[in-house]
Amino acid sequence: MPLGEFDLIRRYFDRPVRRAALGVGDDCALLSLAAGMQLATSCDMLVEGRHFLSTVAPERLGHKALAVNLSDLAACGAEPLAFTLALALPSADARFLEGFSRGLWALADAHGCELIGGDTTRGPLTICISVFGQLPMSNGGSQALLRAGARAGDDVYVSGTLGDARLALEVFRGNAMVAGQVFNTLRDALELPQPRIALGLALRGVASAAIDVSDGLLGDLGHVLQRSGVGAVVEIDAVPRSAPLRAQSLALQRLCTLSGGDDYELLFTAPADRAPQVLAAGVLAGVPVTRIGRIERVDHTGERAAPDGAARLRLLDAAGDPVRHDAASFDHFRAA
Ligand code: ADP
Ligand code: MG
Repeated sequence: MPLGEFDLIRRYFDRPVRRAALGVGDDCALLSLAAGMQLATSCDMLVEGRHFLSTVAPERLGHKALAVNLSDLAACGAEPLAFTLALALPSADARFLEGFSRGLWALADAHGCELIGGDTTRGPLTICISVFGQLPMSNGGSQALLRAGARAGDDVYVSGTLGDARLALEVFRGNAMVAGQVFNTLRDALELPQPRIALGLALRGVASAAIDVSDGLLGDLGHVLQRSGVGAVVEIDAVPRSAPLRAQSLALQRLCTLSGGDDYELLFTAPADRAPQVLAAGVLAGVPVTRIGRIERVDHTGERAAPDGAARLRLLDAAGDPVRHDAASFDHFRAA
């Protein structure tokens, strides 16, 4: 007897809730917020073939589907509370559901984030998660870390290292080669990203703006600059990267760190005099943080000439010489 929709939900996705007022089983789930707290919510969808390879282990897929959502809470400095799971499945495959739910629950438990509801339907494999987190309000204002808070003179920082997930993809595609042992660590970066929740919490009241790096440093920094109405200068060879990535050509290193994506590290800004608090936040969270540049006033004349946002961002190499944006993008790698 194939597993029915409701048996499937009961078997794999229904566990007693601890923090939520009501979880799976009714028409709505219920969440209570303490007085003075604000709800932070975000939603991310993963589609087979577009966001993940069909060969990925189900357990890793369960982890990543929740990780990319928790990463958005981290970027806002919110504490995870709960999530919902909308699933389209080609079939009720027990082996898949077993692994997927194991990976999902492990990460959910690690962050005290409860599954409180969802939807299940037959269709091409698609996973849509909504997360809910909480933030304290202060004096009626929000303490959330937003993209819009960067100011001229602020330092620009990134957590961890960038580029390993993209390097793993380039190895999969046959565009780069690494030893088997090294490939396992790169593959972990791609398939098991660790959302920087502790760092996001520690940066509340310290960082002026933040975003998680999901689409590549240049693109995501561009969002911060746009929302904040500022520009930035970034020392591209100061962007932290792993030893395996540093063993690749400079062109590939730049491609992976600047335009890679799937890093799920935090990119944030802070006033220069908060540098000690930024480093303390990194130590508290157990994640290295590295200064990679500075926020500048935007050149509005230049912006009109280059509406793609390139005018907001100046890139410098290790010698302090300007690097063109297109020299840091995919074409450069092709030419290498
Ligand atoms: P409705 O028809 O009222 O939307 P459903 O029959 O779809 O409710 O779902 C029944 C219950 O199971 C609801 O509480 C819903 O939130 C929950 N649920 C459905 N699919 C999932 C899932 N994949 N994970 C967690 N809970 C789910
Ligand atoms: Mg439903």
